[in-house]
Amino acid sequence: MSEKTYEKFAITGNQKQTTKELSKICVKCKEPKKISLFYKNNGWDAQSNHDAWCKECVSGHCTNKDSLREYCWYNNRKWSDEFYDKSRDKADYN
Ligand SMILES: [Zn+2]
Repeated sequence: MSEKTYEKFAITGNQKQTTKELSKICVKCKEPKKISLFYKNNGWDAQSNHDAWCKECVSGHCTNKDSLREYCWYNNRKWSDEFYDKSRDKADYN
């Protein structure tokens, strides 16, 4: 007598992963990009809770206090000196 074989259970072939990522157009460079290429901006519904500028534009733009302030203005962020210090610490790695 052969034993019952349930080994084939592993193959279902029907696992559709719906990882369709949102994308939006960067306000600055006007390129459509995946949402993961934007910094999170919680509470900004109009921009799907992300910045209006893509990460590339943000890091390319924010080189000093004035440009960082401008970034905050365009991306619905509250300006604070603390925010500036944090960003500067990150930028100081080079
Ligand atoms: Zn951009």
